[in-house]
Amino acid sequence: MNIAAHPAFRGTSGLDLESCSKGLFIGGQWREAHAKRRIPVVDPSTETVLAHVADASLSDATEAVDAAATAAPGWASTAPRRRSEILRRCFELMTERADSLAKLISLENGKALRDARGEVAYAAEFFRWNAEEAVRIVGDISIAPAGANRIIVEYQPIGVCVLITPWNFPAAMATRKIAPALAAGCTVVLKPATETPLTAYALAALYKEAGVPDGVVNVITTSTPGQVTAAMLADPRVRKLSFTGSTTVGRTLLAEASKTVLSCSMELGGNAPLIVFDDADLDTAIEGAMVAKMRNAGEACTAANRFYVQSGIYDRFVAALTKRMEALTVGVGISPETECGPMITARAVAKIDELVKDAVGRGAKVVCGGNKPAGAGFFYPPTVLVDVPGDADMAHEEIFGPVAPITKFETEEEVIARANHTEYGLAAYIFTSDIGRGLKVSRQIEAGMVALNRGLVSDPAAPFGGVKQSGLGREGGSHGVLEFTEPRYVAVTL
Ligand code: NAP
Repeated sequence: MNIAAHPAFRGTSGLDLESCSKGLFIGGQWREAHAKRRIPVVDPSTETVLAHVADASLSDATEAVDAAATAAPGWASTAPRRRSEILRRCFELMTERADSLAKLISLENGKALRDARGEVAYAAEFFRWNAEEAVRIVGDISIAPAGANRIIVEYQPIGVCVLITPWNFPAAMATRKIAPALAAGCTVVLKPATETPLTAYALAALYKEAGVPDGVVNVITTSTPGQVTAAMLADPRVRKLSFTGSTTVGRTLLAEASKTVLSCSMELGGNAPLIVFDDADLDTAIEGAMVAKMRNAGEACTAANRFYVQSGIYDRFVAALTKRMEALTVGVGISPETECGPMITARAVAKIDELVKDAVGRGAKVVCGGNKPAGAGFFYPPTVLVDVPGDADMAHEEIFGPVAPITKFETEEEVIARANHTEYGLAAYIFTSDIGRGLKVSRQIEAGMVALNRGLVSDPAAPFGGVKQSGLGREGGSHGVLEFTEPRYVAVTL
């Protein structure tokens, strides 16, 4: 099976798709896994196999770390301007080939092509932003308070990094780590999600073309992520783990990383509240709610997971949201008309179905959707539920699908308490015409990111990340690159 032969890529794709299913990408070369095992990659829209990728075991992982460690001194001492130019070239190549990249993402992830195009633009932007950061990693110098010496601080690359990414943004979750790591002068081993490895491999070929030296970025796929990453994290040459994924796996990895006292950045799960006050502009709230809920068909860590709507606007909000949700075109991701593609796996659909049944069993009412369809593809319809009680499982767990659970509230104090009643703290959405109130409430919500009168927070120029059990550290903005550095302090008497 070769993805290059897929009808979506008839003519020229501009991507090295032949190499995607050739093997692991280690030291700038493609090669089979030592055990010669392979993993199928399934199109969630049709359940057909798109390709097979190599299945790395421990010896492959060690070779990937070897390659990253060998390349590390050369890359760390490459002039920041040169690193910047290479990163800029990655941005340009991704932008030139955006159409093919979007098709590849849509095929392996199932997301609507329009969402995939948005993801490519977002993912490429991390290279442009970090190309600009690469030449602006500045230290400082000060006089010690006692006056005896100078304090010189400079930021050095932290070293070899292991990067682990999820399937929901196959390009952006990787570039959000790779671009700042490379800007800081680090080398990396990326382990993408098993469901969506093709984009990571296609991008690896593109980085090489852009001038990233061999060994600076290595990519391995494996069906045994626990064993393979534990081995890499135990390797004393590895100095950083940057993980994006579920809180459950994040906890396991933090325990692993403690054995070698690794620096960890953790972008974990969310349970975002979306709050609509009576004084909100209804059109703005609906527009924002559709983006916050339905970007990526709800498969986003930032997705609105709990809707709290004040009693005075409640009926109008429910009616308008239901109308928009019912009108969405559900279909095969790669079809240009599709607005809501399939979920990633049959398991993901079963989980959503379970959460909806649990909520209904506890008194919630289905306003639209709510039924798992028959037929090929991992589909779940856009669904609106009302009167969802606080003890429903979906009030505490990520739905990760196109389901909007709505409940009514009366007062500001009540909704703040309900919004904060979760172990998560990634994103939150607030809609109100009173900006003063919006800012006041945003400061009281326990979340790393708040969107005020809009449905999108993600921006490569802003610090992305969560509080509580949604994570540690930030990606993007000027914070992102510093996660891949360590300050070195020199005391000198002058
Ligand atoms: P996941 O199951 O935690 O997997 C994430 C990555 O970890 C995958 O590459 C996975 O490999 C790997 N993995 C799984 N078990 C592992 C283990 N024992 N040791 C090492 N690696 C392991 O998450 P997911 O289902 O792919 O993604 C959805 C989750 O990611 C949601 O919770 C979502 O909120 C979160 N997320 C957070 C952010 C953020 O920025 N905060 C962004 C996107 C997604 P396999 O694919 O082989 O299992």
